[in-house]
Amino acid sequence: MPSIFFKKEVQKEVAIRVRKIRTPSAAYKSSLRKKNVTAERKSSEGTDLGNSNPLLLHDYVSHQAVHSALCASKVMGKFWSHFFLEICGSFSVDLASNVHVKIHHPYTNIIGLGDSREWRAPFLPALTYMFLAPLLFPIVSPLFVIAELTKANKWKELLRCTLFITAGIFVNITLLMKVSGLKLMTSLLTMWSARAVLSVPYIHVNIFQHIGLPMYSKETAPKRLYLMSTGVLNLSRNPLLDWTFGHGIVNCHVEHHLFPELSDNMCLKIKPIVSKYLTGNSLPYNEDTYMNRLCMFVNKYEELMVKLPPISEFIGIQ
Ligand SMILES: [Zn+2]
Repeated sequence: MPSIFFKKEVQKEVAIRVRKIRTPSAAYKSSLRKKNVTAERKSSEGTDLGNSNPLLLHDYVSHQAVHSALCASKVMGKFWSHFFLEICGSFSVDLASNVHVKIHHPYTNIIGLGDSREWRAPFLPALTYMFLAPLLFPIVSPLFVIAELTKANKWKELLRCTLFITAGIFVNITLLMKVSGLKLMTSLLTMWSARAVLSVPYIHVNIFQHIGLPMYSKETAPKRLYLMSTGVLNLSRNPLLDWTFGHGIVNCHVEHHLFPELSDNMCLKIKPIVSKYLTGNSLPYNEDTYMNRLCMFVNKYEELMVKLPPISEFIGIQ
């Protein structure tokens, strides 16, 4: 018994293997940005969209679709991604794929790349950011898509995306008017409120899962397994979050980052194996409740969402 106890104590002791080494200066951030231009361009396969674009995947189906995790067929996967993201979600597949799949996933928590900075709005006070600003997402996101694609001279994508977004909004309003019998203004309000109400928890889960955990510089980032183990957090399950965002975004986010092309159900199935493997090898397996993270972000908003994140150094197993 004493040896088991001792082992647990040692595991506890070595569980934190990162230390904060410094807060990046503005000059460092700017030099990093220059250095990362090549990596960003390479990973975005020739696009020039940058990486400061908010990602609005309106539900877990869109998230799965952008990862081509909805079905085995590539053609059908492409179809679903355009259907769910552009027609149903009023967002661009190209932007989502560039920012989320090609930058956020491979460079999770690396400052200047996948560090979730697209979610920060330091000019907003805590409660406005956490509860009011997300309500504007449904209006801002299509305009943002048009502005970003125009800026990047992606005319073909802009034309297709504008057509799909317009068609999606038109069908949504027509259904509300013809099937539900609502007037035009009530239909618009209904469509906006249905989308806006989910934008609030969507911002929350996206910042809760990464911000506040160790952030690395590109030069000193640990290997992928350690990066995901230290830089990703699973939120505890509840039926509403499960239904709206799915396991890959909520309670199996670590598994999703390790295996991004697995379906939601598979992420849930491998969860016990992943958690056993990480904890068995004295690696962090971050978990917390939605309410705990919400209180933490409201209380430490200045530290987490306004100031630049400190750079951590991965020390390794001791
Ligand atoms: Zn993802």
